[in-house]
Amino acid sequence: ATPTAIMVGTGLGAKRGVLFKNATALETAARIDAVVMDKTGTLTQGKPEVTDFIALRIDEGELLSLVAAVERESEHPLAAAVVTFAEARGAPALSAADFRNVPGHGAGATVAGRQVFVGNRKLMLAQGIDIGPVAAQREELAATGRTAVLVAVDGQAAGVIALADAVRETAAAAVAALHDAGIEVVMLTGDNEATAQRIASLLKIDTVIAEVLPEDKSAKIAELQAAGKRVAMVGDGVNDAPALAQADLGIAIGAGTDVAIETADVVLMRSDPLDVPVALRIGKGTLRKMR
Ligand code: ADP
Ligand code: MG
Repeated sequence: ATPTAIMVGTGLGAKRGVLFKNATALETAARIDAVVMDKTGTLTQGKPEVTDFIALRIDEGELLSLVAAVERESEHPLAAAVVTFAEARGAPALSAADFRNVPGHGAGATVAGRQVFVGNRKLMLAQGIDIGPVAAQREELAATGRTAVLVAVDGQAAGVIALADAVRETAAAAVAALHDAGIEVVMLTGDNEATAQRIASLLKIDTVIAEVLPEDKSAKIAELQAAGKRVAMVGDGVNDAPALAQADLGIAIGAGTDVAIETADVVLMRSDPLDVPVALRIGKGTLRKMR
């Protein structure tokens, strides 16, 4: 690339808050075939709120106190939403012992002498818990695009918590703009399949890769590359950093974690999904000027 073309491209990006870290990033942006987008915090705002709380065998207020005690120890965004909800409901605070965090699954602890687990289906299966009693509610809530989290107390299913995370306003327009440029759009998420499918269909995303463990996200990028695609990955979380590094072009959401921002080749300062097609377009413009 000529130094002038690169300066122009970098300058155009900077004006829009699209920061290219180097000349290679600009050149790679011109040649992307597929864009992989993390769901939570990238396509959505990453600020989940509890919309439904269903208690099964235990009094609702009591269950809320048990769950909040576990989630207070967790750093997961879903956990923070559960704690906020419990406090708003005035659920008495309890303390948790033996807290265990299981990345990509959920968490568990001993609260008031009871074994409490909160997380996804995989976590419950790993704990040998029969999710039959909550299966119908879980599926119904997930089908609406909400994240359904399960609760177990002393080895038995005890509740379902639904959380909604608003889709970013420009997410659908960003997908449409990428399609117009002939680029395939993929959603990559640790969230459950039904929730991911619902949001993907709202946004008209081509492919969904759901229920991916944090440590497996980069392997999914490598699979797409092995199929001959040049891949850009857009993410915000600590979990996304290895995938951002694996991708041909790593794009971080400016509102994301420091690790994601440090790892990426491009940073979207305005945290606007529409800046993804803008970044790729700037890359193409730069390349054209080189020839
Ligand atoms: P994402 O890729 O969407 O950021 P994670 O890999 O962090 O998701 O988590 C995957 C899933 O594990 C979540 O959608 C949720 O169902 C469950 N989970 C993880 N941590 C927690 C927690 N502290 N409380 C409740 N559920 C959790
Ligand atoms: Mg995320």
